[in-house]
Amino acid sequence: MDSVAKEFGRLQKNGKFDRIIEDVDEMIKRLERVRNTIENVPRSRREELAILKSETKEWANKVNESQKEIHGSLSKYAKSLDKKFKVDIEGAYNQNAFPASSKRLLDRAIAMHLIREGEFEVADQLIKEANLDIPNELELEFMNMYRILHALERKDLGPAVEWAALKRDRLALTSSELEFDLHRLQFVHYFTYPDGSGTRLALDYARNNFSVFGERYLPEISKLMCAFVFQADVESSPYALTFLSPSAWTDVARAFTKEFCSLLGLSSESPLYLSAVAGSIALPTLLKVGSIMREKQTEWSSANELPVETLLPPSFQFHAIFVCPVSKEQTTDANPPMMMPCGHIVGKESLDRMSKGNANMKFKCPYCPNESMPHQAVRVYF
Ligand SMILES: [Zn+2]
Repeated sequence: MDSVAKEFGRLQKNGKFDRIIEDVDEMIKRLERVRNTIENVPRSRREELAILKSETKEWANKVNESQKEIHGSLSKYAKSLDKKFKVDIEGAYNQNAFPASSKRLLDRAIAMHLIREGEFEVADQLIKEANLDIPNELELEFMNMYRILHALERKDLGPAVEWAALKRDRLALTSSELEFDLHRLQFVHYFTYPDGSGTRLALDYARNNFSVFGERYLPEISKLMCAFVFQADVESSPYALTFLSPSAWTDVARAFTKEFCSLLGLSSESPLYLSAVAGSIALPTLLKVGSIMREKQTEWSSANELPVETLLPPSFQFHAIFVCPVSKEQTTDANPPMMMPCGHIVGKESLDRMSKGNANMKFKCPYCPNESMPHQAVRVYF
């Protein structure tokens, strides 16, 4: 991989890229100026065009020179890639997966990805050129998200706390712990100031901010308050793990991104990114399938389904919702999914109904002959 990285580095360092862009921009400006002049003073047309002709020639030579150098580095880079990746991945390609009608969807997925990555300028250009229907408000939302994330990078929790307080009711609907987590991190941040000067700040912060969370997080808050006993030596205290976790800031930034996207009705990761990574993981299997199909001269018949199982890591497995098979209702915190000893799962309300609300009454599972009692059922978390 080293040789590929080396060539890529060389290509990136090639200063001619910027030069060409500058030259092209300059030429565009020049052309626009000439057009204006000719429009305003038609008599000057012949003279202006003659000057332009010689200028264009000179310009083309200059750009060609710069381009030659880039082309050199580019072909070296391509050669290093060819040397490293000898497999021809064409065999895994299925043209039915991308019919011409799906081009718009693909354009849309790319534009959405760019917005989510904070590449607003490029996204705008694509939306304009592909004539996509993506509301400008969405971009504004993501600009706000990046503003808050950048503040988090600077260890400034203010904007995130403000946002979470504003969305408190909606976050509560999904039992989100984000708002308290943000406050806790602020407390820990003060508490662990290297010179110990922050304990007073931490105490004041707790007094001013924790009261709202008293009901739901009392045990957590009590624990945090006990930290003051160890303030002289947090590192060797039972708090070391929680208070000095190196990933605390990235964890909270990730949780914030997830909640922010979920309130917009979007997944926390860009679907395009997930599909591309899942596709790369599946690539070796797909190549194999491709070669077997060619050998047996069969065709991939089901357009929306892969002909093989692809094992993806757990982070690629989604269980967004669970619907009780008895009541056909989506489970919630108030009506959570419950698993009976036989392994079948129903919503808690269905369980209560089947046992007539009596935790010790035996009842038959609606899906198998096993009998059990409601108190034997355990809550399932997806
Ligand atoms: Zn069962």
